[in-house]
Amino acid sequence: DNPIQRKPEWLRVKAPTSPEYGETRSLMRGLRLNTVCEEAACPNIGECWKKKHATFMILGAVCTRACAFCNVATGRPEQLDPHEPEKVAEAVAHLKLEHIVVTSVDRDDLEDGGAGHFARTIRAIRAAAPETTIEVLTPDFMKKKGAVETVVEARPDVFNHNLETAPRLYPTIRPGARYFTSLQLLARVKEIDPSMFTKSGIMVGLGETKEEVFQVMDDLRAADVDFMTIGQYLAPTPKHAKVDRFVTPDEFAGYVTVGRGKGFLMVASSPLTRSSYHAGADFERLRAA
Ligand code: SF4
Ligand code: SF4
Repeated sequence: DNPIQRKPEWLRVKAPTSPEYGETRSLMRGLRLNTVCEEAACPNIGECWKKKHATFMILGAVCTRACAFCNVATGRPEQLDPHEPEKVAEAVAHLKLEHIVVTSVDRDDLEDGGAGHFARTIRAIRAAAPETTIEVLTPDFMKKKGAVETVVEARPDVFNHNLETAPRLYPTIRPGARYFTSLQLLARVKEIDPSMFTKSGIMVGLGETKEEVFQVMDDLRAADVDFMTIGQYLAPTPKHAKVDRFVTPDEFAGYVTVGRGKGFLMVASSPLTRSSYHAGADFERLRAA
């Protein structure tokens, strides 16, 4: 038992028990859909699923990369399910979701990185649930020509791509990814469609300094990113990167103030903030901002 890994009070959450949780779970199972909520062992699953908010993970449950913070399995990816876009759309319509987050594993093995599948999923959701606002949380599409364009042209309401951590920690935390590739992707989205909201996030408690967090904020603003999320990193298993420290709620609140000062339309920063946590309500505020 490593005492440093013991969670402080502000990170303790109730085990999921609500009927809505059960209903969402059986719907996902029935349609054979994957959610990040489960694959990433997200601490907010009880709360989110009770509110029928979920983050779908398309393109399979096996990733071609192996980030040190992530609970998703790495290995040889599965065959694409060509009907997945319609199944996601069916689940969105059935659960009457107001705002939906669609993300994926990295598919470096696919020629377009999975961009076409993202675009088909966005269009299927629009057709089945026209009122639902759609947020995509995409891979970095490294070296996949035309991939960002394909996703932007399908017109999601929010384009999200996470930087995850400060550049200094990439070699250990996000090997296989490049900080500037991710920044460029976000900048490119705005270039293609200046009216599209862009969003990015990092985890803290991985060993980054405050100054490094401020630097990431500046870099994101230079790429004209509208919305930033900051949450506490939690090691999904003892095999993953260790938690360096638990950032206090006050420090999280300080990041909101600094971030707003740097010009973000919105900054969500708290111990339990995740890229998709409260994303629906946040989008409404973003739209109103
Ligand atoms: Fe799922 Fe996101 Fe909620 Fe976590 S915060 S349970 S990943 S919707
Ligand atoms: Fe997890 Fe994404 Fe990294 Fe794959 S690329 S290991 S899904 S964080």
